[in-house]
Amino acid sequence: MASEKEAALAASPSDSPTIFDKIINKEIPSTVVYEDDKVLAFRDISPQAPTHILIIPKVRDGLTGLSKAEERHTEILGRLLYTAKLVAKQEGLDDGYRIVINDGPSGCQSVYHIHVHLLGGRQMNWPPG
Ligand code: 5GP
Repeated sequence: MASEKEAALAASPSDSPTIFDKIINKEIPSTVVYEDDKVLAFRDISPQAPTHILIIPKVRDGLTGLSKAEERHTEILGRLLYTAKLVAKQEGLDDGYRIVINDGPSGCQSVYHIHVHLLGGRQMNWPPG
């Protein structure tokens, strides 16, 4: 399997449907840990920490990545972060956790449907790679 960096460099930033649409539509399986009318949270297929969850909007609405955010997206952006907090609590990450949003090739983004990574269950380091 290609590394995350290779996948990110091979991915083309575009508005085309992504694998996350298939996850939202339940066309491919995922382990969902939280769902409401606006957002879906599911376990990353290639976890980088004992807990690694992706939180995504069910409707992308042009938000391929954070750099494409416009004023109309502020509510869903807040909802993604608030959901990360709820899921972190649900997962028992009481000592802390890390939130990541990769953007564009240099940010190592490989899926162009905005998503928040929730990582926890181990000691994080800084600076990130
Ligand atoms: P990015 O690199 O774009 O910030 O993160 C994309 C994430 O999606 C990666 O961590 C990758 O492991 C995850 N991912 C890619 N395809 C799938 C999939 O089919 N199912 C799940 N659960 N995660 C996926």
